[in-house]
Amino acid sequence: MSKQQTPMMEQYHEIKDQHPDAFLFFRLGDFYELFFDDARLAARELEITLTRRGKGEDAAPMCGVPYHSAEQYITRLVEKGYKIALCEQVEDPQTAKGVVKREVIRVITPGTIMEEQAVKADDNHYIAALAGDDQSTTAYVRTDLTTGKTEGGVIASAVVDLERALMVDGLREVVFPAGDLPPSWEAWQTTTAMTVSYEENEEIPSRYTHLYDGTNPHIRAAFGRMLNYLGRTQKRALDHLQPLATIASRTFVQMDVHTRRNLELTASLRERTKKGSLFHLLDKTSTAMGSRLLQRFLERPLVNRADVEERLALVNRLVDDVMTRAQIEEHLRSVYDLERLVGRVAYGHVNARELVQLRHSLQQVPAIIELLPTLGEEGERLTHDIDRCEGLLTHLEAALVDEPPTTIREGGMIRAGYHEELDEYREASENGKTWLSNLEHTERESTGIKTLKVGYNRVFGYYIEVSRAQLQHVPDHFERKQTLANAERFITPDLKEMENRILEAEEKMEQLELDLFKQVREETTAYISKLQPLAEMMAYIDVLQSFARVSEERRYVRPRFSEERTMSLVNSRHPVVETTLASGAYVDNDVHMDDERELLLITGPNMAGKSTYMRQISIIAIMAQIGCYVPADEATLPLFDKMFTRIGAADDLVSGESTFMVEMLETEHALQEATQDSLILLDEIGRGTSTYDGMALARSIVEYIHEEIGAKTLFSTHYHELTALEDELGKLWNVHVRAEEEDGEVVFLHKVEEGRADKSYGIYVAQLAHLPDRVIERARELLVHYEQPPEQLENREEEPHEQVPLFIYEEDQRSNRAPRKEKEPAEASSIAAQVRDMDVLNL
Ligand code: ADP
Repeated sequence: MSKQQTPMMEQYHEIKDQHPDAFLFFRLGDFYELFFDDARLAARELEITLTRRGKGEDAAPMCGVPYHSAEQYITRLVEKGYKIALCEQVEDPQTAKGVVKREVIRVITPGTIMEEQAVKADDNHYIAALAGDDQSTTAYVRTDLTTGKTEGGVIASAVVDLERALMVDGLREVVFPAGDLPPSWEAWQTTTAMTVSYEENEEIPSRYTHLYDGTNPHIRAAFGRMLNYLGRTQKRALDHLQPLATIASRTFVQMDVHTRRNLELTASLRERTKKGSLFHLLDKTSTAMGSRLLQRFLERPLVNRADVEERLALVNRLVDDVMTRAQIEEHLRSVYDLERLVGRVAYGHVNARELVQLRHSLQQVPAIIELLPTLGEEGERLTHDIDRCEGLLTHLEAALVDEPPTTIREGGMIRAGYHEELDEYREASENGKTWLSNLEHTERESTGIKTLKVGYNRVFGYYIEVSRAQLQHVPDHFERKQTLANAERFITPDLKEMENRILEAEEKMEQLELDLFKQVREETTAYISKLQPLAEMMAYIDVLQSFARVSEERRYVRPRFSEERTMSLVNSRHPVVETTLASGAYVDNDVHMDDERELLLITGPNMAGKSTYMRQISIIAIMAQIGCYVPADEATLPLFDKMFTRIGAADDLVSGESTFMVEMLETEHALQEATQDSLILLDEIGRGTSTYDGMALARSIVEYIHEEIGAKTLFSTHYHELTALEDELGKLWNVHVRAEEEDGEVVFLHKVEEGRADKSYGIYVAQLAHLPDRVIERARELLVHYEQPPEQLENREEEPHEQVPLFIYEEDQRSNRAPRKEKEPAEASSIAAQVRDMDVLNL
């Protein structure tokens, strides 16, 4: 650094030193400038030109973005995970002595950005903070700053638990304590894609102490960390922050990230888009708030029966009472994003147009509140403790015009009749303008110049224009101002005086309007805590009307809950797959499980529909537990406490771990955590290792669940040998997905029936996938050979286990490794190996 730094650069460094992890947007006149490394990186990320400030050795790399279009650049950087410290001039450059004083007025980070471009209306947007005093317990809180909602809870510190609790859709940033972290936090921190931030202070600042009245010291500390971080970065009062809601882990169904992804609850597996997800199917909400709440519902199905029944009762009414539903929906359509409007009010970001949106929304409230009691006791209850904010509505109606501009500096916001003084200025300005428009007429008369015109431009203000040909008629009191090619422009003392009066009135008007607008905004701020429950109520009813609509359109039924842990689904369907097929093409299926039937072992050819069946069951359970009707003719279900799914998923490849390892980790997790009240889905466990290994593992896992856990479990396998377990394990039953052979063609019936499958049809699927005819033919030959009774096969080794005869191909695999290998022609064995190793679904 040079010794002869300018005072301004000194100031820059001083401020930059306090924000080493953020781009410093340094305000210089109409630009935000970035210097040194910030400039180099920003120039690259934003594709803007890198220049220099200063000369020779001291020249500083620099780039800049215009002040008025900064938002888009900020949004782009934040979306890439960066932080931005906005440094403004905090005194008037005209009157400042020496360098203008500058301060960082806000640090914008991925988790705290409020700018409209960056927060999508339909998405939740979270920042999380952690605390904990030892290595086994972690407390977390999660805040959506756009709505002011915070929730928190306590979890175990293992990486999987962190993931499970924190990896919800929309999490952007995590705040850790500075310094050494517990190993699991450290591990998670290095793998997570979130922006990482640090904050030491765990004391809840005094202005927010009312937001937490719980007793858990860890949650309190995490909340304190969050509030201090928000305070340090946002540098303003956050009046819209709501009291922390504690999440007891038993309130919601526990599901890990993989389960949520595998079931495609909020995003499709392949494209990671909402389309193709359960969310997409169920989202018939009318408001963005409803859409976001629905996503939260899907992330956390309820465990408590009364809570679920409350939702279902309302959905029931909404299904039956189509009229009321249509009316509610109609009103909701006029409701804007109240939650986020409130957030913007608290931030002082709100403009008159948004307050008019707020007004529109409030205008719907009385009608909605009137309608709710028609939905029975549960509907009536929703109206309790709801303030309709009528006072605010009256005020907004009186104060604001119907279509105000988006800027708050140019007037045009306040209604006539609202404020006497403002009306007077307006009248003065109006009168002046009338005088001006009459002027043209009067001056034409008095001068006799028929082409005389009155006009206005920014440089000279109002003027009188006379064409060249008429100049001789111009009277003396006209004062020449400007000469054009064909005309001259003049002013008169009267004209100037009137102009001054108009301008003065307009200036006063704008200032007064701004002041009045700010008062209205203040008044709105005072209503924040009343608007929030109102917004919540509307989001809630919106989600339920959406459930009702989808349920009616798609012929879903109200689920019943069984205290006896019975699951009985009649003609059930997979709600999403069903919509991708021609009407009626989806084959419905029954499910029956109870105390005597805890595990279903599913066999059937590839592509028969095994994993669809399993997914269907857990999705139906989730739909029931979020309070929605379900795709079936009749449905009785237990209330599950946890759900685990291990269904082969494409996303394992991304994480870099071997599929088999992921499979084992997830299975371990399920075996550790599952209870009798859980639902476990295991799809083709053991497929990622050798057949012996795989089958042995699969079997011991099934035995363990049967003996130790007793959870409702669906287990699909291509190890047909496992079906023999039915005889040994009392609560395990075989089912299979039926396929039939007709004229050498296999027909998948997608129908789940009792008993084991007799054939696997793997070669047929290989043929569907267009493997070379030679491969298919040879595989058929080999299959005939292998399907001979075991005694007839040569050199058969001893079975490792009596009850479970081994999968027939294994013979071949072993003979490949053993010296007997030469007995088979090399070509044939390699073809057999190809057939065996082929992953048909992923071809
Ligand atoms: P598996 O797990 O047995 O290999 P999948 O569950 O992946 O088979 O199903 C394969 C395909 O069969 C799916 O893509 C789906 O389109 C279709 N399918 C599955 N179940 C049904 C059903 N019940 N009705 C109609 N089509 C189905």
